[in-house]
Amino acid sequence: MQVIHQFDTVIVGSGGAGLYAALEASQKSRTAVLSKLHPVRSHTGAAQGGISAALGNVEEDKAEWHAFDTVKGGDYLVDQQAAQTLAEEAIQAVYDLENRGLPFNRTKDGRIDQRRFGGHTRNFGEGPVHRACYAADRTGHMILQTLYQQCIKNKVSFFDEYQVLDVILEDNTCKGVVVVELATGELHIFAAKAVLFATGGFGRMFKITSNAYANTGDGPAVCARRGIPLEDMEFYQFHPTGIMGLGILISEAVRGEGGILRNRKGERFMERYSPKLLDLAPRDIVARSIQTEIRAGMGIRGDSKIDDYVHLDATHLGKETLKKKLPDITDFCKTYLGIDPADAPIPVLPTAHYAMGGIPTDMHGRVLKDADNTIVSGLYAAGECACVSVHGANRLGTNSLLDLVVFGRRAGQHIAEYIKSAKAAVVDDSAANDAREWISRITDGAAGPHGGHISEEMQTTMMEKVGIYRNAQQMQAAVDEIQALRKRYHAVRVQDTSKSFNTDLLEVIELGNLLDLSLVTAAAALQRQESRGAHSREDFTERDDEKWLRHSLAYLEGDTVRLDYKPVDTSIWEPKPRIY
Ligand SMILES: Cc1cc2nc3c(=O)[nH]c(=O)nc-3n(C[C@H](O)[C@H](O)[C@H](O)COP(=O)(O)OP(=O)(O)OC[C@H]3O[C@@H](n4cnc5c(N)ncnc54)[C@H](O)[C@@H]3O)c2cc1C
Repeated sequence: MQVIHQFDTVIVGSGGAGLYAALEASQKSRTAVLSKLHPVRSHTGAAQGGISAALGNVEEDKAEWHAFDTVKGGDYLVDQQAAQTLAEEAIQAVYDLENRGLPFNRTKDGRIDQRRFGGHTRNFGEGPVHRACYAADRTGHMILQTLYQQCIKNKVSFFDEYQVLDVILEDNTCKGVVVVELATGELHIFAAKAVLFATGGFGRMFKITSNAYANTGDGPAVCARRGIPLEDMEFYQFHPTGIMGLGILISEAVRGEGGILRNRKGERFMERYSPKLLDLAPRDIVARSIQTEIRAGMGIRGDSKIDDYVHLDATHLGKETLKKKLPDITDFCKTYLGIDPADAPIPVLPTAHYAMGGIPTDMHGRVLKDADNTIVSGLYAAGECACVSVHGANRLGTNSLLDLVVFGRRAGQHIAEYIKSAKAAVVDDSAANDAREWISRITDGAAGPHGGHISEEMQTTMMEKVGIYRNAQQMQAAVDEIQALRKRYHAVRVQDTSKSFNTDLLEVIELGNLLDLSLVTAAAALQRQESRGAHSREDFTERDDEKWLRHSLAYLEGDTVRLDYKPVDTSIWEPKPRIY
């Protein structure tokens, strides 16, 4: 017998997207937020650099320029009305955060200060513009704290350390979710009129990543197993500057403040790849440029190996600026590298960072289940796990935090209206059967392979074969290897069968989610025969708008992936070659 809870609205995830949606939904509905972590430990809290909005506080700026940069940065795979909404609503969204108490850095005359970030330009590409609003290098942390305290004030019911395992869908309507309570190991059912997934990213499918351990793509995987397609999964962003060997992020804010990438000869090599924007070109371009330098023997060691590295030089910024604007980054360098960035350049390499793809939604966060944009009643998604799509083939820095607040809020507002006329969900015990069987199998006491080895192999395969540069042979090998790992996964057993905080069990469940998403990512990437944004193929080096200016929809069907496609909204700007 399960505990069955009844709410109007259930939000899964308490990062920026989940909390903003909860804030809105809770004004008109009984709202629960479920999170496998304590809310303020969500990955949003790790976001450093900033949140973009064309406030024009430091120099002239316009929402239209912001929307255009977003579309061009995404290599024209962005839905353009959505990008326009993102840029226009950004301005009010940032002021709302300020009014709710977010301590932004200030200009001398007391306005919100702004810094430069990759791909954000003035007047349709003339040069970098100051558009990122920031609170030192702790912007995400401040957003999370601000939203969490507002939710507490609004009496949102929080269920911390509750991990969602399944979603209940009947007759194209969402009825709730199935959840395990970590402290007791008990299964719970949360019945709801509306469910919103805001479970964040899945960088943990790669060996070197900036993402937290919890970023295992639970939301998209749960939805995919229940027949919801995943959109544009072949587009995964590698951030150019992770700490060499560890992947811990060195924010683009370092380059925004004037940091320079250099090769072994000390050359500012971005001059050759992006003469106009230099080190502030979009991330896909900078990450490829680093890789190209290393392959040409221009990495610091000069041995052309993939783990060679380049330098991010911030020594000329001076101790004062580093202390005031990049204090956490300075600390990271001291802790993990034993260097002070004021004295020595930072050894960096690209690190797996951000999922452009995810659960397909419309601009109200409603989940779409096919190429005809059929809505699943009562099911919503927002934040990194969703695909609106405002990031297309490559996201611009600072546009994710913005995506969370703009579309988290829109989804919350829509839910508040939707639940007024929706019927209360009726759910019985049997809804938890599949989740119960899954757990029983993993803990049945039989001997089986260790999940840890499978996880390592998956991460290496994805890093080496579905990374920055890709080709058919390697991606096919990746699909085969992930399918073999999925077979081995079915035999995995945990030896710890205790109920309370059984982290072994939870890790195995998360590994299952990552394997599902790895397969979808590799299969979607193999099918797309062009280079666009973060999807860069050695065997199809050009962008091919005629055949491939379309979103992919990947359906996970057992051990295979079926692909369908839908058009991109190009109603404002005609796709052009992307030159920076
Ligand atoms: C190091 C780093 C720095 C970044 N810096 C920036 C930046 O400066 N600017 C910018 O725009 N973007 C930045 N990004 C990207 C941005 O921070 C993320 O895309 C964004 O914060 C994701 O927010 P979210 O609300 O979607 O999910 P998250 O903040 O990741 O939260 C996910 C939530 O879902 C919950 N959850 C997950 N699975 C389950 C489950 N099964 N059951 C219950 N709960 C679950 C978790 O507990 C958590 O509360 C950065 C990312 C990283 C990793």
